[in-house]
Amino acid sequence: MGSGDAFGSGGRFQTCIALGTEASAPPHVLIDCGATSMVAMRQQRIEPNEIDTVLITHLHGDHFAGLPFLILDGQFRRRTRDLTVFGPPGTDARLAQAMETMFPGSSTIRRRFTVHVREHADRRTSELGPLRITPFEVSHASGAPAYAVRVETAAGAVAYSGDTEWVEALLEAADGVDVFLCEGYSPAPTRWHLDLDTLHRHRDRFTCKRLILTHLSPTALASDLTEWQIAHDGLHIDL
Ligand SMILES: [Zn+2]
Ligand SMILES: [Zn+2]
Repeated sequence: MGSGDAFGSGGRFQTCIALGTEASAPPHVLIDCGATSMVAMRQQRIEPNEIDTVLITHLHGDHFAGLPFLILDGQFRRRTRDLTVFGPPGTDARLAQAMETMFPGSSTIRRRFTVHVREHADRRTSELGPLRITPFEVSHASGAPAYAVRVETAAGAVAYSGDTEWVEALLEAADGVDVFLCEGYSPAPTRWHLDLDTLHRHRDRFTCKRLILTHLSPTALASDLTEWQIAHDGLHIDL
């Protein structure tokens, strides 16, 4: 739903990936929930109150700042389904801070549903219903550890790099998955981010079936992308 960088480059929404089990059923899982994600969900006709799990790669606003809006929307529209947020260590406190900054009092108000916050640990797999979720620590300064995430189900597997400079752990996170969504931030190396030159050098080492670039900066969007598959908002992929 959101394939852009932090700044809306190319008119794209910030990172938000919806996972569903069947095309006909509403998705229940998000990977990342950037500040623009409520608009992106409404545009894609996805009901926010149906989302029961949000996996957060790292605590930058373009990846997690949609959560206060998602929680508040649930409160105002009488949501009863609990929400589980899986995020880096410190997610609970950062989420409360973000809610209090934007909507004072909103982090402590009584709701009809509970927000459960669980923390990632490097390479520790969690089972959640039909999902197996494994985070891999990457390298991206965001005030807390940052992760790539791998999600496996009986139907298939996907992985997302999050934001990171090159780390070998990306190869493990993407090993054998059907789709690897990978940051393609800039044409040439940029600190804390993935670039197309570096990805090109490592491309043959990935064992994923498809590698699709996302989170592109204006310079990446303007560069020659013919050798790459590129995500766009609204891209629907069947595994
Ligand atoms: Zn980002
Ligand atoms: Zn970031």
